[in-house]
Amino acid sequence: MVSPTNHLSQTALSQHPSSGMLATALSQLNAAFQSLELDEGLQAVINQPEREMTVSVPIRHDDGSIAVYTGYRVQHSSARGPCKGGIRFHPAVDLDEVRALALLMTLKCAVANLPYGGAKGGVSVDPRLLTTFELERLTRRYAAMIMPILGGKRDIPAPDVNTNPGIMAWFMDTVSVIQGHHVPEIITGKPLALGGSLGRIDATGRGVAIITVEMLQRLGLDPREMTVAVQGFGNVGLYAASILHNEYGCRIVGISDVSSGLYSPLGVPVNSLCEFIGENAGSYLDSYSANGHLDRITNEELLTLDVDILIPAAIENQITERNADQIQAKVIVEGANGPTTFEADRILHQRGILVAPDILANAGGVVVSYLEWVQDLQWFFMEEREVQLELTDVMRRSFQQVWSLASDRSVDLRAAAYILAVKRVAEAISQRGIFP
Ligand code: NAD
Repeated sequence: MVSPTNHLSQTALSQHPSSGMLATALSQLNAAFQSLELDEGLQAVINQPEREMTVSVPIRHDDGSIAVYTGYRVQHSSARGPCKGGIRFHPAVDLDEVRALALLMTLKCAVANLPYGGAKGGVSVDPRLLTTFELERLTRRYAAMIMPILGGKRDIPAPDVNTNPGIMAWFMDTVSVIQGHHVPEIITGKPLALGGSLGRIDATGRGVAIITVEMLQRLGLDPREMTVAVQGFGNVGLYAASILHNEYGCRIVGISDVSSGLYSPLGVPVNSLCEFIGENAGSYLDSYSANGHLDRITNEELLTLDVDILIPAAIENQITERNADQIQAKVIVEGANGPTTFEADRILHQRGILVAPDILANAGGVVVSYLEWVQDLQWFFMEEREVQLELTDVMRRSFQQVWSLASDRSVDLRAAAYILAVKRVAEAISQRGIFP
């Protein structure tokens, strides 16, 4: 017979260090535990996801053949409120990646002081290989499979890599049809017509821009004199670049996506690039017809450009031991989740490069997801200006708290954000007590 203790240790997060991002997040989590001298029992609770679900997602392709994909939903913690976290469709999705992302969501919601725990989901699939109808069937079947553990007061998904408002709409419709009534609060990041929130589409990028400008202010630097490189030109990267350029006057000199990068010391044509991506769904920067003053660069070259600010906003593990000593930016703002490995973080710290960590910098999406959920529960909707004011307040307050904690404890911003988050999550667990 397997004793409960054995069973627990088999599923503890720390038993699954194979994913780079999971290993990185756990190392940082452990550093926060030590810094807080946290009770070992509380450490064990935080170290382990509350619930994990692996599902088979069979769909019929348009040609009549059947394919089976694997999906996941991991609920890391509900100590501070319902679990919250996005859904990713990507071939690299596996259980370890989802575990790491779910843990980051718990910490991110705690840093922003939202009444949420953390979760994440995903399907291991390359959506570029599916037709629209196949993608819809995949989304609906995945929604139906994980529905037993979801709920507006249990676990509320949202968009992440390769998922968007349209996919959120199919998801919400599936749950509503099965439950027999309208359930807008089941998911956030929906289109406006279905209970989405004004200001959600650009919220993560706007949050990244707000944190960037807060950092610059502390350093006494003028955004209008700053050069910026952005890796990733999807939901986060595109809006971060556009808002930093159009609202704060930064010069975006480099931009990239999975296909390639573009560079110009004079500044890339941000608005024209945004229009191009907006008007040509599914296309990439390599099909943008670059004129004379734009150079084509690789993603590796983009990361090491001679810029003031670097915004990794694509996927995890991009700044590693291999390239950390070549990074030239003075400030890094993590739009993506887990873009910097543990070793790279140390190198950057030693080199005096300031890093705004993911759990602080890219919280804008979940902040406005929270506002969307509140609006759906009340059936009462906010103006875009109110949403943006609230978002700005939360981002600035979180930044201020993390910055002060970092200077009080003489640690970097990531360590401070982890300490702040772990303290809040541990407090909730202690106050609830351990059932039964
Ligand atoms: P997205 O799918 O909209 O865009 C991803 C972008 O990254 C695309 O331009 C893609 O071409 C590019 N990309 C993918 N693989 C790449 C690679 N190997 N090298 C370079 N570029 C690559 O996804 P998104 O929603 O913008 O998410 C980007 C990151 O931000 C992820 O780490 C995600 O977890 C994180 N994030 C997203 C949100 C959100 O609200 N969407 C919130 C917080 C954090």
